[in-house]
Amino acid sequence: MNPLYALLESQDNFLHIYDIIRLVDPQRGELLEFDRSSGIKKTGVSCCDVFGTDERCQNCTSIRAFYSNKTMVKLEYSNGKVLLILSVPITVNGDQVVAELVKDISDSMTVDIRDHSRVDKVTSVIQSLNKLATTDAMTGLFNRRYLDEKMSEIVEECQKNTQPLCCAMLDLDNFKNVNDTYGHPVGDKVLATTAHTIASYIRRSSDLAARYGGEEFFMLFTGVDLESGRNILERVRQQIEQTTIEVDGHTLSATVSIGMAEFIPGESAHDLLTRCDKLLYLAKKNGKNRLEC
Ligand code: GH3
Ligand code: MG
Ligand code: MG
Repeated sequence: MNPLYALLESQDNFLHIYDIIRLVDPQRGELLEFDRSSGIKKTGVSCCDVFGTDERCQNCTSIRAFYSNKTMVKLEYSNGKVLLILSVPITVNGDQVVAELVKDISDSMTVDIRDHSRVDKVTSVIQSLNKLATTDAMTGLFNRRYLDEKMSEIVEECQKNTQPLCCAMLDLDNFKNVNDTYGHPVGDKVLATTAHTIASYIRRSSDLAARYGGEEFFMLFTGVDLESGRNILERVRQQIEQTTIEVDGHTLSATVSIGMAEFIPGESAHDLLTRCDKLLYLAKKNGKNRLEC
């Protein structure tokens, strides 16, 4: 027998490995109870309580574990403590839930940053690691991996709350010409400037912008319907067109084509993205520097 299994037969020993072991419903952000006779039961208790906050974690690994069906690991700095959190997707009587194993490692971890690290030093390391994992380095926008994971969560939320949701895929026009004419570093500058304009239209915590691919961006506005979405995205398009970029004595400007769609209740995040993509293709076909929805 695996020696760990034998060890785990005693629950006390298990608790030496982890400080908290709990079941959560990450979609609802709620703790669950389990007993062999009645199975899973809701508790109505928020899963954030353990972190001393009533806000959902911005970087919730359990929701990522839930949607990807993979174990996720997180280091969280909270109330002066560094917590190691393992989120393990499991199925209980046909229901998909997540087991969270939480260990306070404030006094027991080693972070190899080669100086006399203390918890406050470690905080900044954790923050930079989290940023690295979710952000595109060149533009500072969220990266595609973060968007893909977050998108399903946002779609579910809008479905549940019958809230509108507008999404758009933006692609720089004739960008290959910029690289071919002025060189790759100038192309990079155009990309960063476009991202900066895009980011300036992210004004609420429920909005999101990501770099989806090389010269493709994605924007998402929760609580915004098609008509308002069209107004915002049309302003983004015009702003990008009007922004001039000075490089090596040249004055450049870029344009984007945009495919925008409003969430249809019942559709998946994937289908919504595909519709944006198709509308983007139409915008390119219809002459570029335009929006189709
Ligand atoms: P269209 O209007 O149809 O979108 O034409 P396009 O030239 O923009 O599209 P295409 O897909 O042919 O070319 C995209 C170019 O984007 C090719 C690639 O070299 C460039 N690109 C992708 N990522 C980067 C990057 O990080 N930096 C730079 N400078 N260029 C990039
Ligand atoms: Mg492209
Ligand atoms: Mg392009």
